Amino acid sequence: MAETRKTKVLIIGSGPAGYTAGVYASRAMLNPILVQGLEPGGQLTTTTEVENWPGDSHVQGPDLMVRMEAHARAMGTEIIGDIISSVDFSKRPFVCQSDSGTVYEADSIILATGARAKWLGLPSEEAFKGFGVSACATCDGFFYRGQEIVVVGGGNTAVEEALFLTNFASKVTLVHRRDELRSEKILEDRLLKHPKIETLWFHEIEEVYGSDMPKGVEGVKVKHTKTGEITDLPCKGVFIAIGHAPANELVKDTLETHMGGYVVTKPDSTETSIPGVFAAGDLTDHKYRQAVTSAGMGCMAALEAERWLAEQE
Ligand code: FAD
Ligand code: NAP
Repeated sequence: MAETRKTKVLIIGSGPAGYTAGVYASRAMLNPILVQGLEPGGQLTTTTEVENWPGDSHVQGPDLMVRMEAHARAMGTEIIGDIISSVDFSKRPFVCQSDSGTVYEADSIILATGARAKWLGLPSEEAFKGFGVSACATCDGFFYRGQEIVVVGGGNTAVEEALFLTNFASKVTLVHRRDELRSEKILEDRLLKHPKIETLWFHEIEEVYGSDMPKGVEGVKVKHTKTGEITDLPCKGVFIAIGHAPANELVKDTLETHMGGYVVTKPDSTETSIPGVFAAGDLTDHKYRQAVTSAGMGCMAALEAERWLAEQE
């Protein structure tokens, strides 16, 4: 028979928002349960150097997340390797089903499910996913030693991925649809000065092509956004780094969302449209989407959950 776990606070997600909520809810003696999801540690486990986490001028993303997990655990958060598959906010306590079969009954919920990589949506991109097309340079860069690689996008992720991939690739071409990056200036400077990186402005990927036996990418066809001219760019790896969309699958039909699916919270608060349900981090933040802002919102969510629970008693 399925196990039922009862808790005052259920935290869904194990990125900076979730673990920080765990630290604060534990110190409020709420004995929170945190369910980690498919990606324990969240997005920072897919990167290398983090240079803007206060107190650490250089820290590896995965190391930082291991430390955050240990911190939440040490304060008393029960951390469970499970995935929430559905939520029922229609009655209290709220009921969450999980992949393991465990049912979580919670007086309050902190949603911290973060964001996931976006894809271009091309059939050829789909066909070569895992065979040369990737959205994670730290996971897959190693496979492209001595090869030519294309990175698509113009934000912090694309620039960081391009820089990181120079550790393996013979050449990296950054393909961007405009001629202006939206990354931090320090990163842009490193990119533009790097001898292994070329930039291809005003271009979009038209098609990824490759071989079937063995399956693998051979190149991309890129289109000039102004002239429409198609150019062939041979490469073995294509890294899509065009941003992230909120991981709102659990709540998109029950909670108010805006700006492409971000969960709406009340001004200066993490309260959602359902009392007792709070949202923190990239799931709700269409503007800053940083580790430190996510952690800040995790703190707010735990403090607000504590206050809300006290009011219910
Ligand atoms: P996330 O880190 O996205 O974590 C979401 C969590 O929710 C995951 O643990 C996942 O398993 C869990 N989850 C999702 N669905 C479920 C479910 N159904 N059940 C249970 N759990 C679930 N920011 C910086 O400040 N500095 C940087 O240097 C930096 N570098 C970055 C590099 C890359 C490559 C990327 C992609 C992002 C980077 N960011 C950086 C942004 C930063 O990672 C995010 O802003 C931050 O991780 C968001 O934290 P979060 O807690 O909201 O969610
Ligand atoms: P982002 O800032 O939203 O940038 C996405 C980039 O992809 C933009 O340049 C965009 O072009 C381009 N793009 C979007 N859709 C496209 C499409 N269909 N085809 C071609 N190009 C497309 O996303 P991100 O770089 O993943 O960053 C997400 C958040 O995480 C940001 O807040 C970022 O600051 C944060 N982050 C921080 C760090 C760090 O602090 N070091 C590192 C990584 C990420 P346009 O510019 O034309 O819109």
